[in-house]
Amino acid sequence: MSQTVTGIPRRIDQLLAQRAKTLSFEFFPPKGDKAQILFDACVEQVAELGPDFLSMTYGAGGSTRAGSLAALQKMRALAPRPALLAHLTCVGSTRAEMAGLLDEWSAAGIENVLALRGDPPRGSGAFAPVPGGYAYADELIAAVRSDGRFAISCAAFPEGHPEAASRESDWQRLAGKFAAGACLGITQAFLDATDYLAMRRWLDAQGHTGSRIVPSILPVASWPWLLNFKQRFCPNLGLPERWRTVLEPLAGDALASRAAGISLTIDLARDLLAAGAPGLHLYTLNKPMAVAEVVTALRRERLL
Ligand SMILES: Cc1cc2nc3c(=O)[nH]c(=O)nc-3n(C[C@H](O)[C@H](O)[C@H](O)COP(=O)(O)OP(=O)(O)OC[C@H]3O[C@@H](n4cnc5c(N)ncnc54)[C@H](O)[C@@H]3O)c2cc1C
Repeated sequence: MSQTVTGIPRRIDQLLAQRAKTLSFEFFPPKGDKAQILFDACVEQVAELGPDFLSMTYGAGGSTRAGSLAALQKMRALAPRPALLAHLTCVGSTRAEMAGLLDEWSAAGIENVLALRGDPPRGSGAFAPVPGGYAYADELIAAVRSDGRFAISCAAFPEGHPEAASRESDWQRLAGKFAAGACLGITQAFLDATDYLAMRRWLDAQGHTGSRIVPSILPVASWPWLLNFKQRFCPNLGLPERWRTVLEPLAGDALASRAAGISLTIDLARDLLAAGAPGLHLYTLNKPMAVAEVVTALRRERLL
């Protein structure tokens, strides 16, 4: 078993066998010297919260492929204890190129992959695989599984994927990703716990009770910030009336907006954990303060 010096497994499938709940944080590769300094400080501060794993996004079109690996390596140097999870998409790569990438990442000590289809670069239309590439995440998952060197996670969409005919048809695809070899699902951001619980109930009713899915938590800074996030990264994101009622009137007051946004974020995370979610995956956006506040509040309540 691959372990850190403290005996904690570095493979997420082995970690899950030991933990009823996991705590994890997501980062993106920094660009430029100033961003690198902030990234390094964020990794160090977040590591003090004792996460089980840290994840690193992977840019569309392979543009930040080298950046992802360099950031993962820096992360390992700064935070030796948690497992690392490398996001990986099918965008712009043939199967042979993906196999080469897995060799490179394995040689760099990466043991966990979040296997994704990915999205085409903005404005370039619908996703289409390159000739000789993978069309869907389940194909990549099956390939990584037969490679055998990585524990595999997959994406889950409590509100349904934007391209799916219905959320149930997308959840059926999610079940297919577990069948193909994923040991963990990590959700897209969402703001209404009932979406996650509906997905969980649907999977259970279909007999997929063992599929472990950890909700992603987005610490929200203000109403305009949330609208911008939805427009840029998450077009399907539902905006519950309660969030609008609380945040919209505070839009001109950054401090009050932030306090209210964090409070709503903690409420959402609390509801999810209280309903049995197997941990949390927090978006850091490469800033430590908001995620630290959320985790500290939930630990005070002994929910994490
Ligand atoms: C936790 C998380 C992390 C992410 N990180 C990144 C990142 O680092 N970089 C990045 O570029 N993107 C990232 N994304 C975004 C992701 O790449 C997009 O949402 C993408 O559109 C879908 O990826 P997927 O792996 O879910 O695709 P798939 O599972 O392939 O699904 C894509 C669509 O096809 C349908 N479908 C799935 N399988 C089949 C099948 N066999 N036959 C027919 N239809 C099918 C699905 O219902 C869905 O509508 C992330 C998403 C999540 C939730």
